[in-house]
Amino acid sequence: MNRENSRRLFDKAKRLIPGGVNSPVRSFLSVHDEPFYVDRAKGAYLYDVDGNRYIDYVASFGAIILGHGEEGLIEEIKKALEAGTSYGACHPYEIELAELIVEAFPSIELLRLTNSGTEATMSAIRLARGYTGKKRIIKFRGAYHGHADFLLTSGGSGMATLSQPESKGVLEEHVRETIVADFNDIDSVLRVIKDDRDVACVILEPVMGNMGVILPKSGFLKDLESLCKEKGILLIFDEVITGFRVAFGGAQTIYGIDPDITCLGKIIGGGFPVGAFGGKREIMENISPLGNVYQAGTLSGNPIAVRAGIYVLKYLKEKKEVYRDLERKVRIISEEVKKIAQKYKIPYTVNGLCGMFSGFFVDGEVNDYESAKKSDRSLYEKFFKLMLKQGIFFAPSPFEASFLTVSHGEKEIDSTIEAYDRVFKELAG
Ligand SMILES: *Cc1c(COP(=O)(O)O)cnc(C)c1O
Repeated sequence: MNRENSRRLFDKAKRLIPGGVNSPVRSFLSVHDEPFYVDRAKGAYLYDVDGNRYIDYVASFGAIILGHGEEGLIEEIKKALEAGTSYGACHPYEIELAELIVEAFPSIELLRLTNSGTEATMSAIRLARGYTGKKRIIKFRGAYHGHADFLLTSGGSGMATLSQPESKGVLEEHVRETIVADFNDIDSVLRVIKDDRDVACVILEPVMGNMGVILPKSGFLKDLESLCKEKGILLIFDEVITGFRVAFGGAQTIYGIDPDITCLGKIIGGGFPVGAFGGKREIMENISPLGNVYQAGTLSGNPIAVRAGIYVLKYLKEKKEVYRDLERKVRIISEEVKKIAQKYKIPYTVNGLCGMFSGFFVDGEVNDYESAKKSDRSLYEKFFKLMLKQGIFFAPSPFEASFLTVSHGEKEIDSTIEAYDRVFKELAG
């Protein structure tokens, strides 16, 4: 596979952009490779500047669900463009998008649009602190919620050790009030809460998507919900990935949970930069201009992005079979790949839910950060490179989920499974 043009572009990019990329994972650094440059994308495929074609399981890290360049969506965007690109004033489409989201998520009564998932989680936490008048926040080890200072921590076990910043430039005081507990371990949450009356909120992905896909154990989310209610702690669901991916009303619909605030992003912008946070009216009414929790954005509610989002959400609402179809495709891949792994005696565990899945090179179950971390990174690196050579693009990091779209058809699924067989055979040596 020739990647000469990509190599040249990457060399130039590195002279102009830190690491050559506008988001670190795109550098392929964690798999010790160099990125390809996309020329165009259509359906389930990415085409690079050297004329190579890849079946895409990154799907803009989950933002794409219909497939690339879906025709109706492109038409809608063209129409939207004719009406101007940004107003800094109200327009009817923001109401329509809000209405679609409120209808899909029973827990959301009021919502505010942002430009990214990071803005959504950052604002949701400001709101939780503003509403409760409390300081501390609880997150789960290994979880990613965007790059706001106070969320860039993973370390510290419980109250005994303070959280440590995960990034230079994040002050210890920024993460001092962030407490880290363990996903799927309600006792770890109880331990960090104890008699602490200063916890404003718990933030989590109900189905983890940022250390690979990790499903909540039976009862974990319910227990967390009850605990939060009992202690007056707000429950924030970060459904930036799972919202509209695992079900029309997100993971909270599947598990029957009623979070206080929900964060959305990715899919709701149809491939444009959009995020949202919303929840109970009583809480959301504290956002400015109604209340004193400040939150704003010059391009928030951008008409192009919003109309793209509306198109995608309407599509998903009208064609509910999309979710059954995504689920079926993920099940087929998971089952076939498990068989292939067994055949070549490669330790491999697949977790998945509806339109998302991930494989870990590990023996046994993966249901928390510790078990996910055991996944063999060098094996993933080989797997990634070999798959790419076969024209299949998985995330350039062992801890990112893989995503399917409506446009992944039988042909693409079959090719993927065949590629798995060849690659696992080679990995087995
Ligand atoms: C992607 C992501 C974010 C951040 O969204 P951006 O649009 O990249 O800022 C937040 N939370 C979760 C769970 C995500 O996957």
